[in-house]
Amino acid sequence: MTDCIFCKIINGEIPSNKVFENDTVLAFRDINPQAPVHVVIIPKVHIASANELCADNISAVTDIFSAIPEIAKAAGVAESGYRIINNCGEDGGQTVLHLHFHMLGGKNLGEGLV
Ligand code: AMP
Ligand code: ZN
Repeated sequence: MTDCIFCKIINGEIPSNKVFENDTVLAFRDINPQAPVHVVIIPKVHIASANELCADNISAVTDIFSAIPEIAKAAGVAESGYRIINNCGEDGGQTVLHLHFHMLGGKNLGEGLV
């Protein structure tokens, strides 16, 4: 997708502070962190949102979750813990239409979700 910010980060057109990368997954520091540790985790394939997931592209999600322990280690939160969030659509607060998961940590985030 030529006009997608995260696709531009994947192809190097926009710089990012990388935390982890493999063939299918990229993780980088969020530009506007909501916690002391805030990493954005994306598939290298363009999928607009969780609403677009199906049997044909679900490997993008399994690839991401397979990499989460390594990403948490690289981000320094594997021992202390973290929260993984996906925002989907308008009410979900999604602002970038390329599927991504937020990894938040570096402090006690409490028990509430909203
Ligand atoms: P969401 O609101 O769930 O769509 O999350 C999009 C996230 O991407 C926000 O937390 C933004 O701060 C983050 N973001 C947007 N542009 C960049 C960028 N160029 N580098 C790093 N993070 C970004
Ligand atoms: Zn994209």
